[in-house]
Amino acid sequence: MFKKILIANRGEIACRIIKTAKKMNIKTVAVYSDADRSAEHVSLADESVYLGGSSASESYLRSDLIIKACKEKSCDALHPGYGFLSENANFAELLEKEGITFIGPSKSAIASMGDKIESKKIAKAAGVNTVPGHIGIIDNEDEAIKIANEIGYPVMIKASAGGGGKGMRIAFSKDQVAESFERATSEAISSFGDKRIFIEKFITEPRHIEIQVLADNFGNTIHLGERECSIQRRNQKVIEEAPSPFLDQKTREEMGEQAIKLSREVGYSSAGTVEFIVDKNKNFYFLEMNTRLQVEHPVTELITGIDLVEQMINIASGKTLEIKQEDVELNGSAIESRIYAENPYKSFLPSIGRLTKYDPPKEKKHDDNTVTRNDTGVKEGDEISMYYDPMIAKLCSWGKTRESAISRMESALDNFLLEGIDHNIPFLSAILANKRFKSGDLSTSFIQDEYKEGFNGVFPSANEEWTLASLLLAYHITEIYKDTENVHEISEEWEVQLKYNSIEGGSSLFKFRTEQLGNDKNQLKLKPLPSKKVSGIVDEFVPIYLHKDFSKKLVSANVQLFSKPKSEITFPEKIECRISYHNPYLYLSYRGISISGLVLPQYVAKHMKHMKPMKIIDKSNLLICPMPGKLIKVLVKEGDVVEDGQALCVVEAMKMENTLIAPKKCKISKIKFKENDTLSVDQVIMEFAFN
Ligand code: ADP
Ligand code: ADP
Ligand code: MG
Repeated sequence: MFKKILIANRGEIACRIIKTAKKMNIKTVAVYSDADRSAEHVSLADESVYLGGSSASESYLRSDLIIKACKEKSCDALHPGYGFLSENANFAELLEKEGITFIGPSKSAIASMGDKIESKKIAKAAGVNTVPGHIGIIDNEDEAIKIANEIGYPVMIKASAGGGGKGMRIAFSKDQVAESFERATSEAISSFGDKRIFIEKFITEPRHIEIQVLADNFGNTIHLGERECSIQRRNQKVIEEAPSPFLDQKTREEMGEQAIKLSREVGYSSAGTVEFIVDKNKNFYFLEMNTRLQVEHPVTELITGIDLVEQMINIASGKTLEIKQEDVELNGSAIESRIYAENPYKSFLPSIGRLTKYDPPKEKKHDDNTVTRNDTGVKEGDEISMYYDPMIAKLCSWGKTRESAISRMESALDNFLLEGIDHNIPFLSAILANKRFKSGDLSTSFIQDEYKEGFNGVFPSANEEWTLASLLLAYHITEIYKDTENVHEISEEWEVQLKYNSIEGGSSLFKFRTEQLGNDKNQLKLKPLPSKKVSGIVDEFVPIYLHKDFSKKLVSANVQLFSKPKSEITFPEKIECRISYHNPYLYLSYRGISISGLVLPQYVAKHMKHMKPMKIIDKSNLLICPMPGKLIKVLVKEGDVVEDGQALCVVEAMKMENTLIAPKKCKISKIKFKENDTLSVDQVIMEFAFN
């Protein structure tokens, strides 16, 4: 067995690999860049080596420096994680020359599967179903159109060297083929340094279902069932689960057999993933093979009980695969939610900054027999930088049934405290709560279909509104009176103004009368009063008991709902939500609902309407950079008149190209930056003149 391995990666996956190495009594060496000097993976490893500057090309992609580090620290093997050098056949070859074992498949398997055109040819020859299309390079626009016409629309235009959802475009017509061909080619060159493009049929409303394989160097190859990864945004996975709620045992076995066939064909060893696209009739087609540990591998580990990293290390060290196909049992159901640093309310713009709070739910087996797992590589106080991908953590849940895994995930998301940056937890909560998601009716266009106008937040039901308003009021009162001795007398009328963090905006006004706080200051009674929006409320006081966890800003409450017939109550009586104070506002988040509230005694509220409103500065004549990044393309010049929605420039941030568009028809009066300039958030890129 290896004595010491180097982990050529960062973040959660480096931490994940170190964990297993520790369990196996193998020493670990971490590598790091400037931005990662105090990163979690560096402190977890036994030793560490500095590579260079923060950008990946100066550090995690420097195979020369990484190999030097291996030699310096006498490592006998290297685990590449995912991304970076994990699917780089040249790197695997360099390591081999130096006598360092690559914990992954052979260089030839990487090379043949790393290329989408090549891998499709091999798959087809091995008798694996492939997506109908043209398995070959396309040279120019005219040829692209001709082939697309033959395949039939819609078609998918893809970079052969593509990955990470990049360099891929759908075209519904001949015109779109021309345009997409050009964009896909330029993206392929800039991202992969390889301009080869091919075209295949776009399977409509498909599911993405992939098979995990494990193979050793002695011809033993097994599969560990599937993962359903249909919840995607811009072809990037967001939520994954195992098993798929769609597959029957027969289809699972057929897919597994094809995955094994393909692995054998390329002499695969180590862990790998064969991705399929599956249509409504359970026809499945090979997409690509990922010759590495997959981001979403934890869901497979949770349902099989197999540690994939341990298997990879054992196989690389020359051991025989001990698990037989018939030993593999798929037990229960597991879900993974990718927590990203991005703003779901602002078209998912990447967000960077300091994690002023980071407190994920505890990893454990709960009393109800469900499990919470959280794979992460950050800690409170860390900086989320623009240099690497925006994934902060992978929150996973396991349950005997899909329902119990979902409900564990919902509560784990409620318990995840993240501050300092924007994050997608409200969006993840919304998906988990979505009826269609719950029913298992998934497709890769799920997010697009369900959130057509983007994510605008979740809007509470009338019932939920009342409960959340009363919770805010109770929170406010218990806070302001917490240092007061004699609180028995308090009896007052209050107004709670709620504003929704959603595009439709919207606000509601609630009135309450509170009565007598009990001896325990976290208990009180309140009575809703009729207001403009809601009338005919019951004439009774209801008790509310709060439990506050200040370290997490978590408030749980037992609320007896306002006398509604039991059958109409859909809201749990015990709820957990997050409340924070930014005087004078209270912010509450609960299951994707995000509201700000203002709680005022009635006598103060009465005078509020006489206050002057705040002046709002008009910025509509400015193109403001929404995120830090690099200006990679300026598509207009000063003096141009542009139409509503016309592309103005492209800013690259966190490996994504973001096209900024004109807010309405206008003239470009000034351009303040040029291509390749670095931009910080809120910098004015251009000025417009209207009419
Ligand atoms: P998965 O199907 O497991 O999500 P992806 O192909 O989307 O796999 O990418 C896996 C990981 O590798 C992601 O974290 C992604 O950001 C990263 N990645 C993908 N392509 C590249 C690349 N060219 N360079 C560096 N990292 C990449
Ligand atoms: P990457 O290397 O970037 O992961 P893939 O070929 O695996 O590229 O495709 C990524 C995602 O794009 C898939 O999960 C699927 O949602 C979508 N996709 C890819 N090819 C097709 C296709 N032919 N039809 C429909 N959707 C597709
Ligand atoms: Mg893929």
